[in-house]
Amino acid sequence: MAKVSVIVPAAGSGRRFGGKANKIFQRLKGQPLFIRTLEVFTNRDDVIQTQLVVSESDMNEMKERFGGHLGFMGVTLVAGGDTRAQSVRNALANVVDEADLVAVHDAVRPCVSSLWVDAVFKEASSTGAAILAYPVHGTLKKLSQQMVIDKTVDREDLWQAQTPQVFERELLRKAYAGQVDGVTDDAQLVEALGHPVSAVMGDPRNIKITTPDDLALAEAVIGSLPKAKAKRPYHPFAEDKW
Ligand code: C5P
Repeated sequence: MAKVSVIVPAAGSGRRFGGKANKIFQRLKGQPLFIRTLEVFTNRDDVIQTQLVVSESDMNEMKERFGGHLGFMGVTLVAGGDTRAQSVRNALANVVDEADLVAVHDAVRPCVSSLWVDAVFKEASSTGAAILAYPVHGTLKKLSQQMVIDKTVDREDLWQAQTPQVFERELLRKAYAGQVDGVTDDAQLVEALGHPVSAVMGDPRNIKITTPDDLALAEAVIGSLPKAKAKRPYHPFAEDKW
């Protein structure tokens, strides 16, 4: 079983969400959104390290309100940067050498099933680089500033990148060693090295929470996520009944 170090970037400003507090503090089924995201990883046997990347402006609140709980979960806090890529880079510097793989998963994607995480971890263990992705089903239009259709974009072979994005530790370190301006996910840095990145079928429920409407959607879908089958209770005489 590959050992995985997990980085959860949560240091965005959340400007599109509105409101005073960062959207990561919003409640989802009564629980702060980022805690729900972290639990998917901290409950796994293959995860040996989990880092939550937090902006300087949220750091005090995070420590005061959740420091004890995060410590109990084994999560360490890291200061973020101006962009997602800079935030991930800050955490990469702390990844332990015992980790075979590094998984990056956005704090704002709380509706991720552990089964999808299993699948992308497995693929990355065999290929060195894998992400969850989902095919584009709608028709895509490129618009002008005036909201007039400029052209229709061919959707053939187009997929939307999701997270987790998972890579061999040294491969990701090498990918992040150069400049990261304009980079919006981790895979593109690995692609730029010429290393193939496999896509594993994701799910439309693995949404990125950007606006309050997305939060309402997450509330609606979170109960429907596929769960791992419960382990059979051991009973010495019951084997043939299962
Ligand atoms: O900005 P974007 O929607 O791509 O954010 C994706 C994830 O990256 C979010 O969880 C956000 O909190 C995080 N992020 C970060 N540091 C930044 C910007 C975004 O950790 N400077």
